[in-house]
Amino acid sequence: MNSPLKWEVFVSPQVAGITSDLPPGATERKWSPISSTLISGERDAVLVDTFITMEQNRALAEWVVASGKNLTTIYATHGHGDHFFGVNTIQHRFPNARFIASREAISVMREQLSPPWLEAYWKSRFPGQIDPALPIAEELAGGVFQLEGEELVSIPAGHTDTRNTTCLHVPSIGLVVAGDVAYNDVHIHLGESNADSRQEWIAALDMIESLKPRAVIAGHKRPGRPDAPSIVEETRQYIRDFDRIAARTQTAKELYDQMLAIYPDRVNSPVLWNSARAVKS
Ligand SMILES: [Zn+2]
Repeated sequence: MNSPLKWEVFVSPQVAGITSDLPPGATERKWSPISSTLISGERDAVLVDTFITMEQNRALAEWVVASGKNLTTIYATHGHGDHFFGVNTIQHRFPNARFIASREAISVMREQLSPPWLEAYWKSRFPGQIDPALPIAEELAGGVFQLEGEELVSIPAGHTDTRNTTCLHVPSIGLVVAGDVAYNDVHIHLGESNADSRQEWIAALDMIESLKPRAVIAGHKRPGRPDAPSIVEETRQYIRDFDRIAARTQTAKELYDQMLAIYPDRVNSPVLWNSARAVKS
């Protein structure tokens, strides 16, 4: 493999958010660790996804600066705010970096910046911590862009943890930056999906597998855990377990408890509580 491209992942610390919807016995709700991927060539680099708070994003910007690369592009895998609120902070250090996403993901970004989401959801959870400047991406026409002559391909993944998600595939190095299509040892956000759209999610995971990647980077991962392709099957299995247990339980508490019995050590069990509440409400 003669591709000059390399990749590295930076995982955010877990930041506490304000909410009253806590699982039984919990006293605080932290956001899951978020991953940002730097794909770099000899001189230039592409950053995939950013973080939520200004403090998290300043640390991310410093990490990109320390790489010594010239950041040309920021790509967002999907429209959730926790993956694109850092763009202004990154562009402060790299004013020439353009921000791109698929047209469909951009429609979710616009919704995330509307008052019910930006004010009622994000700013109430992270008061004073979200950048006042939240740029929206330009559309990536044609679905492919380049880094030092190598192709980076935006692949539509449909409805996974939200609608209109994508993965970024770098064929020359066998890399899939999966965004929230795959999770790596972190509880999976199932609160925006239903039994039908979870079939679409499984199909997206099958699609990633068909690319025969050498590495798969999840949008939310346990820090330090390898970016192994086996997380694709782990994600599929978790979704199937959730659907199976959801079908035979009555309450959110039962669903939560039975899933936790299978997955006692995944990061951030309050996410499981939100998923259970969403299907049992
Ligand atoms: Zn996310």
